[in-house]
Amino acid sequence: VPQTEPRAALPAVESARWLDEALGDPADPGTVLSYMRCAELERIGEFPTEICAELDRLGLPRHYVPVAYGGALAAYDEVFHLMRVLAGRDLTAAIAHGKTFLGAASVWVAGAPDQRVALAREILSGAPVSWGLTERDHGSDLLAGEVTAVATPDGYRIDGEKWLVNNATHGRFVCVLARTDPKGGPRGFSLLLADKHALDPDRFRCLPKVPTHGIRAADISGIAFDQATVPPGALVGPVGGGIEIVLKSFQLTRTAAGALSLGAADHAFGLTVDFLGDRVMYRRRLLDLPKVRADLGEAYGLLFAAETLGWYGCRAIHTQPEEMSVLSSVTKYLVPTFVDEILGRLGDLLGIRAYLADYADGRFARLERDHRIVGIFDGSTFVNQNLLINQFPALARGYRRGDPAAGAAVGLAAALAQPLPPADLGRLSLAARSCGLTSALASAVAEVGATSDAPTAVAALAAQLLVATDAVHEEMAGLSHSARAVPPEAFDLAHRYALCVAGAASLQVWLRNRSVPPFAGSTLWKDARWLRAALVSIVDRLPGRRLDRSTVYTELVDAVLVDAPDGRASLIPTRSAGAAR
Ligand SMILES: Cc1cc2nc3c(=O)[nH]c(=O)nc-3n(C[C@H](O)[C@H](O)[C@H](O)COP(=O)(O)OP(=O)(O)OC[C@H]3O[C@@H](n4cnc5c(N)ncnc54)[C@H](O)[C@@H]3O)c2cc1C
Repeated sequence: VPQTEPRAALPAVESARWLDEALGDPADPGTVLSYMRCAELERIGEFPTEICAELDRLGLPRHYVPVAYGGALAAYDEVFHLMRVLAGRDLTAAIAHGKTFLGAASVWVAGAPDQRVALAREILSGAPVSWGLTERDHGSDLLAGEVTAVATPDGYRIDGEKWLVNNATHGRFVCVLARTDPKGGPRGFSLLLADKHALDPDRFRCLPKVPTHGIRAADISGIAFDQATVPPGALVGPVGGGIEIVLKSFQLTRTAAGALSLGAADHAFGLTVDFLGDRVMYRRRLLDLPKVRADLGEAYGLLFAAETLGWYGCRAIHTQPEEMSVLSSVTKYLVPTFVDEILGRLGDLLGIRAYLADYADGRFARLERDHRIVGIFDGSTFVNQNLLINQFPALARGYRRGDPAAGAAVGLAAALAQPLPPADLGRLSLAARSCGLTSALASAVAEVGATSDAPTAVAALAAQLLVATDAVHEEMAGLSHSARAVPPEAFDLAHRYALCVAGAASLQVWLRNRSVPPFAGSTLWKDARWLRAALVSIVDRLPGRRLDRSTVYTELVDAVLVDAPDGRASLIPTRSAGAAR
């Protein structure tokens, strides 16, 4: 949003509406980011250069740069909503352009002041930044990395290969994780920001683009260094601080990644509702068949659970940075997992239309393929579950101890229209002592019970969530294992823990916004419809009694179709009026 405009009560939503408007109608082949152009780029596997240039022209890179360094990144939920809008049109474009947000994160977390200012200037003038962490032989095992950086009188000499790296070829900068202590270990790696324009061209080469299952137009390649020298100022943070900085940066990027999933879901809902509304079977619209409506409603229930978790998580970067090691892993694990489930369900509803290459330019099949990567990069599902498991002992102790002060920070993160304090990235931590959302759950459940406008069904669901959360923490406290031999059951427990956190986020978001404009008055919020469905979809995935789901889901679809007739629903509409499907 141009800075001259007054800040709206919900700047994140205003920004999303602005981008939606600025990008124009994607169904119009004349727009730069049109469905047709994206399909063609995907077919020929060509990088979306023109689309990225248009996003630069619109000023999107400003949202990757904190305001302190001249950008427009004031609140992380704003970049989250912008990415959702972009991903809602094309995941490849969002991943290709948004990579700069990931590549630069380490510099915002730990860079020197002049390094931050210099990188900000380059990003604002359109320079893409990539992030070279992974290596061909080591995948998620960053501590096994073999790329080395040796201190020399001129700076650091880098050797070795980073693969796969998004934008390694198109990017101007690459933030490289390299071994600076031959012995390795948590303090044996450092981060170096290499400017490809300043490197000796004989000392590095970009690796060929790798054909991929989805996001086929993206630049998924790598970079190989052969005694490439970077100046001393390329070092990001202290020598030996690389792993810690990467893990803290992941807390920002993994939370924001949920936006990619939500965008994919939006796109899929648009296609599905369009089809179900048009298709007449047995003399009625498919959309009016009870089974279809209930299945669609369940998918929306998952969507709202994912949306509240992602939105809350981004705001928590400002309010509870110390807890982001938990929230980022829960978000990065659960949001893509829920959206995979949503896509499966919507694919079933579309029937062969999800399979036919020509139906709606093959958009459903494409977004389904594209979305597969969201759960893999930046820490896979298992990696994030494992990170949660490592924190179980502290989280179980924190839950038992209770935290009467948690309510205030949780309340602010959940009050979506409340302005946020600046994000203090210095407070990010590798391990949380507790989770405010679960600590504040018992009081939230009591509050729901005492709230006259909460339907009884919500109070009952909230009570069930609390019982499940107590049980999950009991199990977490009882789990003992070594870091090298994590029992498979622990991953199931991490899944259930993540569900409890997501349920608590939904409850808090409803409590703090239900009577606040613009949320109050929207059909989705009336009688807590979205919350009921979100809680049902969560509680139903936890052990316990099976729930009566179909009425809740059907009523949710009724509400969605009032608020978002095109099917692209969100807690608050982020689409400009009259936008195309
Ligand atoms: C399109 C694309 C873009 C990418 N972009 C980048 C980029 O910009 N920068 C970058 O550095 N990398 C990038 N990567 C690499 C990617 O992030 C890594 O490859 C990925 O995080 C690790 O996945 P892997 O399949 O190599 O897994 P591996 O680590 O080899 O794992 C294989 C399997 O083991 C499981 N596993 C791993 N660890 C655990 C554990 N602790 N417990 C249980 N199971 C576990 C995994 O989930 C997976 O199922 C990209 C990859 C792709 C495909």
